[in-house]
Amino acid sequence: MEFFRPVWAEIDLGALKRNFRRVKSFTKSDVMPIVKADAYGHGAIAVVRALREEGVTRFGVAILDEALELRKEFPDIAIMVIGPTLPEYSEIMVRDDIIPEVFQLRQAEALSAAAEKLHKTARLHIKVDTGMGRIGFRDNAFEAIQKIAGLPGLFLEGIYTHLATADGTDLTYVSKQLTLFNTLRDQLRAAGITIPIRHAANSAAIIQVPESHFELCRPGIILYGLLPMTHTGQEAGFEPVLSLKTRISQLKTIRKGESVGYGRTFVAERPTQVATLPIGYADGWRRSLSNNGEVLIKGKRAAIIGRICMDQTMVDVTDIRGVDEGDEAILIGDCGEDRITADEIAGRCGTISYEITCGLTKRVPRVIVDNDI
Ligand SMILES: *Cc1c(COP(=O)(O)O)cnc(C)c1O
Repeated sequence: MEFFRPVWAEIDLGALKRNFRRVKSFTKSDVMPIVKADAYGHGAIAVVRALREEGVTRFGVAILDEALELRKEFPDIAIMVIGPTLPEYSEIMVRDDIIPEVFQLRQAEALSAAAEKLHKTARLHIKVDTGMGRIGFRDNAFEAIQKIAGLPGLFLEGIYTHLATADGTDLTYVSKQLTLFNTLRDQLRAAGITIPIRHAANSAAIIQVPESHFELCRPGIILYGLLPMTHTGQEAGFEPVLSLKTRISQLKTIRKGESVGYGRTFVAERPTQVATLPIGYADGWRRSLSNNGEVLIKGKRAAIIGRICMDQTMVDVTDIRGVDEGDEAILIGDCGEDRITADEIAGRCGTISYEITCGLTKRVPRVIVDNDI
């Protein structure tokens, strides 16, 4: 891959594959890796390719556009859209064998019509809202599913729900959701409607709610080596897959009283050696890290000083010996004994690691590596 600015995200497929095996150690169920949002910013094509080598045949994305991008590259995998798709695009889904989630009767009717027209069977998964309050059949679930089961051309392959608090320390609400889900399943079975695949578990539930694993699990964040919670899961040893790196553009020394950046929010209290890095908020390197973050240079921490610009960031390297222009700076990842995680960045920005990795923009090239431990 060719790029001319020394800013890149390294994607370690070795770590990804090891993380997948760690997921498998938590469950005997099938696993549908979630690769929405370009695999949480890691690059969905590379991630799917690597996980196929681990024997994965089914993947989940959030929107039809993402599904079609994968379909072009991978004709033989099962692709599910775990999010809403408008009924008018049913023919596209049936044609390309994309599995939708269905949470409205009119979606099922449109799929059924598309299946009939194309002389195909449309696979679908029913989405049930057991307490997330987002998308899914709720009180009307049983009657609606009964109707859907009567429509021609459909295969109700799956039924699923999403847990609102699987990352918590109190799992009472998770149990309530699972009870509703199981009750509905029993009602359906009693009515002669059997749906072979049930699923409910995201990463957090894979780790701490075994009774939610059913036939299929939906891990996202742990595959990328990040944990959805801080109170448990560390012992599994998930490894971050993404590192963010750059190189110093320029070094300069400013005097005491001189300032750095827009608005002069940093004023030197001592002669300060400033390193400029060619990355900014247009790369998804968050502006809220201004005067509020660090990068690793030569294994040491350099504080971000002044405001982060659209394309550049300044750091204080006064206390690091032997720094040169062109030296590598690690924004996310390991350097020497130290490590900056997406979680550390997220904490400083008041958000979660998910938003940091999937927020890296397409201006940042993803460079694939495959590291052994
Ligand atoms: C994003 C998502 C997941 C994966 O969640 P993680 O916390 O990243 O494991 C699973 N299921 C649904 C419905 C999702 O939207």
